[in-house]
Amino acid sequence: MDSSSLLNSLLAQRKIALESASFLKRVPHPLPEDWEFERVEGMLLGLAIGDALGNPTESQIPAIRRQSHGEIRDYLPNRYADGRSLGVPSDDSQMAFWTLEQLLEDGGLVPDHLARKFSQNQIFGIGRTVTAFLRSYRDQGLPWEQSGQPSAGNGALMRIAPVLLPHLRRPSPELWADTALAGMITHNDSASNACCVAYVHILWECLRLKQAPEPSWWVETFVDTARELAGNTSYASRNLALPYEGPLWRFVEREVRQALKQNWSTLEACERWHSGAYLLETLPCVLYILARYGDHPEEAIVRAVNDTRDNDTVAAIVGAAVGALHGRAGLPARWIGSLLGRTTADDDWHIFELIESAKQTFWRADPPFTSDNVQAVLKFLPIFERPEYSPGKWIIREGEFPYFDYTSEVLDFIEALYSISLIKPFDWMNWEEGKQLVDNPMLVGKANLQTLRKLLTAHVRADRFAEGHLAAMFESGHIAMILKRMAELYPSSPSNNQ
Ligand SMILES: [Mg+2]
Repeated sequence: MDSSSLLNSLLAQRKIALESASFLKRVPHPLPEDWEFERVEGMLLGLAIGDALGNPTESQIPAIRRQSHGEIRDYLPNRYADGRSLGVPSDDSQMAFWTLEQLLEDGGLVPDHLARKFSQNQIFGIGRTVTAFLRSYRDQGLPWEQSGQPSAGNGALMRIAPVLLPHLRRPSPELWADTALAGMITHNDSASNACCVAYVHILWECLRLKQAPEPSWWVETFVDTARELAGNTSYASRNLALPYEGPLWRFVEREVRQALKQNWSTLEACERWHSGAYLLETLPCVLYILARYGDHPEEAIVRAVNDTRDNDTVAAIVGAAVGALHGRAGLPARWIGSLLGRTTADDDWHIFELIESAKQTFWRADPPFTSDNVQAVLKFLPIFERPEYSPGKWIIREGEFPYFDYTSEVLDFIEALYSISLIKPFDWMNWEEGKQLVDNPMLVGKANLQTLRKLLTAHVRADRFAEGHLAAMFESGHIAMILKRMAELYPSSPSNNQ
């Protein structure tokens, strides 16, 4: 059954807390002709960055956080990274990237598989609602559609962004159905489901926009969608100084408009709304930060990290939006380069591979490889892995720049890489996270073919700018390591010729 039919049947049986609104039939606008996947990379990395910048000081009161850390603009030393200042994820990134992983595995959304995926690994900093979901789904064995909790926490919204990916090539109303179904798995609540759809709509538009929208666009776009989807619901403010009871969108509309008019600082505004893990508090903060700093991705994320209490989640939600709008290139390279990219305790760099696989699967695939043509490169492995192997020698002559004279095997090897199109043009100079692979041989031992291909490209191309770069990679054993991993992925078999 497709997602729209499944959603319609759940709506008819009143099993999903959502209004059967006309928005759900709307076809998302197509992506522009010259659109690049780089925007999606920005969206996913922005989410991971926001989470990692925020999570060491999650739920602290901004003034207290500032006393201990000053203004946070970089990852804090983290005990889960041996005290180094690296980006370590919490539940927000974990559940978002598990969503992406499951979408890749199934080729699209299969809600029960996603529910199972959420219940397989330890979730860092798990919230109360997801704990209750696990009790229903995993411990009591309830079906996925009965396991979502009636909670207006922000735990579905924080992880929802990847549902967009299977729709990039052929946008259809299935996108809204996927969003609602994926959201209700853990949080089956009117505000949560409506916020998820309205926010995915905002993300989709961000992916398309050529420049940051007007400040009022964020709240208007949100309210237009959420109003229709939420129905006649009532949510109460937890802040005694700011009493409110009514639909979430009305509060958001009133408050964010007022903040814009009064030009409150994001700190003032987020303190007024309390900025906790409750959607009535999260949404105004997210939309106001985006309204003020949508044209400045770094500042938007910094404000979310410093000026809110549930800062990892607010920053993850803000980060995905500014990442979608400005693309990967709009995010500071230092944040990308220092992101561990793990989704469990021991899968560092995994999110970067998931992003690469997503590009291959949901956008444009590189030409495929066969075991046979990879052998054209692998035949060099026995030579390069000899301990005494030397890739050549430096030639130093007076009056000339020193240069590295490669052996004929190395030159043949490079030619073979080109001949089977293993060299793939990409922006390798700004491939910040790739540097982690050179320092950490363990990661190469687990890499997928797309990553190996990017690594080989980066090294061969870098050699033109830094004489002897490739020689150093041979001498450290890095090139042999890449080929060894490739041999594991493409074992040669006697039946190859069949
Ligand atoms: Mg978190």
